[in-house]
Amino acid sequence: MEREVQRVRRAFESGRSRPLRFRLQQLEALRRMVLEREKDILAAITADLCKSELNAYSHEVITILGEIDLMLEKLPEWVTARPAKKNLLTMLDEVYVQPEPLGVVLIIGAWNYPLVLTIHPLIGAIAAGNAGIIKPSEVSEHTAKILAKLLPQYLDQDLYVVINGGVEEATELLKQRFDHIFYTGSTAVGKIVMEAAAKHLTPVTLELGGKSPCYIDRDCDLDIACRRIAWGKYMNCGQTCIAPDYVLCEPSVQNQIVQKIKESVKAFYGENIKESPDYERIISLHHFKRILSLLEGQQIAFGGETDEASRYVAPTVLTDVDPETKVMQEEIFGPILPIVPVKDADEAIKFINEREKPLALYVFSHNNKLIKRMIDGTSSGGVTANDVIMHFTLSSLPFGGVGSSGMGVYHGKYSFDTFSHQRPCLLKSLKGESANNLRYPPNSQSKVDWAKFFLLKRCNKGKLSLLLLTFLGILVAVLVKKYQAVLRRKALLIFLAIHRRLPSKR
Ligand code: NAD
Repeated sequence: MEREVQRVRRAFESGRSRPLRFRLQQLEALRRMVLEREKDILAAITADLCKSELNAYSHEVITILGEIDLMLEKLPEWVTARPAKKNLLTMLDEVYVQPEPLGVVLIIGAWNYPLVLTIHPLIGAIAAGNAGIIKPSEVSEHTAKILAKLLPQYLDQDLYVVINGGVEEATELLKQRFDHIFYTGSTAVGKIVMEAAAKHLTPVTLELGGKSPCYIDRDCDLDIACRRIAWGKYMNCGQTCIAPDYVLCEPSVQNQIVQKIKESVKAFYGENIKESPDYERIISLHHFKRILSLLEGQQIAFGGETDEASRYVAPTVLTDVDPETKVMQEEIFGPILPIVPVKDADEAIKFINEREKPLALYVFSHNNKLIKRMIDGTSSGGVTANDVIMHFTLSSLPFGGVGSSGMGVYHGKYSFDTFSHQRPCLLKSLKGESANNLRYPPNSQSKVDWAKFFLLKRCNKGKLSLLLLTFLGILVAVLVKKYQAVLRRKALLIFLAIHRRLPSKR
């Protein structure tokens, strides 16, 4: 493991991952990999999650292609140094911020979207000029295998290395020194990752989970709300980090919500859900049993059917759920939707704030003021109002958690920034030394006064022209005063010369 990391570090130190041309070429190669080996990739995802190829394409491949295209388009602009504001002391100097790669990064992926959760951060790492070690989740073993096979065929083999394995390998990897660790997975393992990173003072991005609440206001189109919620909850069999985890609503609308979610489920997956190519399975027996245990003692409004052999859990809704029961104590990460009745929006806000900060918050209402009140009164990684999941699809929005749902963000420019150091650069000239007397000892009150003038005044173009005009005015005044006698004599001579040349009046 140590030797592998050193090999990648040596490749990074060769400097070849830095030039823009190289980065673009690697991103294009990654794009080619996805396009040329699409069938193999889709087959692997399908095998891991019992997902149809169409769904594997729409849930994963599209996201990756979209992100690569964005990087290819925007990278030339993003890698360029950005000029920064100057103060009076640096007016004549060059001041800019230059993004530079961090070095060798470690990407640890999770299994629920096994392609996106490893390749999406890798795109950012490559775009920012880094080298990287990629550790896909061992739970989605088919995708892990195909990534280990394909990536070396398309990318620089020394700069980007896939290491497969489970807890043991991940633990060994975390002992090594990296320049950044990008982890996706549970909050519990996130803590282990951060502890290991702290030993080397390595910065981390932690994309974790949590219970994402969904408040449904009485004043909302319940048909639309329930259709959207059912889509986001049961997609990937509920194994989506930003799926709505539970619903908060007034008791008076609970039954309607149950009915409308039921109708949506029927419309999406038909009468026989087991036969639907659009309905996935639970990833492992361990998770299947965990999800089953969440149903114990609950009032099942619909669903609840399970089949251990195929790890099938039907889309399920639980009503009048007690917040103290197990299903409300941990992230569900399965197709079970508990409804917790609350008196009103204020009680919903209080309920959300009494718990860990979630990865996403959802609110459905016709009332924009109420939506804003929910947003202002709570905290979460991201928010979508009147829909679920969709904020993830916008690369113009930073994606990440807050508090126990994670730290750091990615997607689009945010990925590039996450994997870059924003290096401040000031290029001074060796001239103009007299101005520096101001900062050299011994100090004096007048130096402090000048320093205050130069450093506490912000410079913008308007102020600068005013300052220049004042300076010119003062200069003219000083010159006039200094050369007053000479000027007066010159003026007298000119006057006499003119006077002599004038014809006599006589
Ligand atoms: P997982 O079991 O695949 O684990 C994630 C990664 O951590 C794997 O690569 C695994 O090998 C590694 N790992 C596991 N135990 C480890 C240990 N002790 N030390 C070091 N590494 C270890 O996935 P999971 O944790 O079951 O993932 C589900 C969780 O991830 C959910 O909470 C979900 O919300 C969250 N998640 C978050 C996002 C996000 O973008 N924020 C995306 C997907 C999943």
